[in-house]
Amino acid sequence: MKRYIASVSFGKDSLAMLLKMIENGMPLDEVVYFDTGMEFKAIYDIKNQVKTMLCNLGIKYTELYPKRSFKENMLRKTVRHRDGRITHNGYSWCGGRCRWGTMEKVRTIEKYCKGAIQYVGIAYDEPKRIKNNPNKSYPLYDWQMTEKECLEYCYNKGYFWEESGVRLYDVLDRVSCWCCANKNLKELANYKKYLPKYWDRLKRLQDETTRPFKGKLTIYDIEKKIEEKQA
Ligand code: SF4
Repeated sequence: MKRYIASVSFGKDSLAMLLKMIENGMPLDEVVYFDTGMEFKAIYDIKNQVKTMLCNLGIKYTELYPKRSFKENMLRKTVRHRDGRITHNGYSWCGGRCRWGTMEKVRTIEKYCKGAIQYVGIAYDEPKRIKNNPNKSYPLYDWQMTEKECLEYCYNKGYFWEESGVRLYDVLDRVSCWCCANKNLKELANYKKYLPKYWDRLKRLQDETTRPFKGKLTIYDIEKKIEEKQA
């Protein structure tokens, strides 16, 4: 018998997909979540809330993890050239063209969902991410739900991703890993202003890696830029 697994990151899109699937009584055997270890506290809070709901509904919940911790991969893993030479330690920041964390996440979830129908939370306004694969289903796309509608739907259901009195989606475009190098300068300025705890954490990580965070800019350069703009 076919199994149906929803892969959920507990961001707005995949959460909206999950909640609406349950509401619509769609076939769902299991929910799988990959924990990078670098998620916002708000994501972990919502995850725990939903986990309880799934347990009450009798839906299996599974957590997957990377082989090594994010920091181990980022700062300490021995990285070798194709000829076997050790080139450096740690992949450094994850994001842009060096999305080593995403690669492991996708690979691990795909492996876990092999043989099942995997529900993926891709919104209607992201059609390029839809793959023509008979083992994947994209309910948000079928429902023509845009990212904005997903967020509204989750808010209406009482999920707000709130930390330090701030709704994360009010100040960030994406609520993915807090240390994601894909964050743009506007989001980073908002970290500094509204989420100083994470800004400090970014600085601590920058202290441990020589590679700049964005292009040629380290977190400290970005901080200077933000301060200059505010002066
Ligand atoms: S959200 Fe960013 S940091 Fe996290 S795995 Fe994806 S690319 Fe890497």
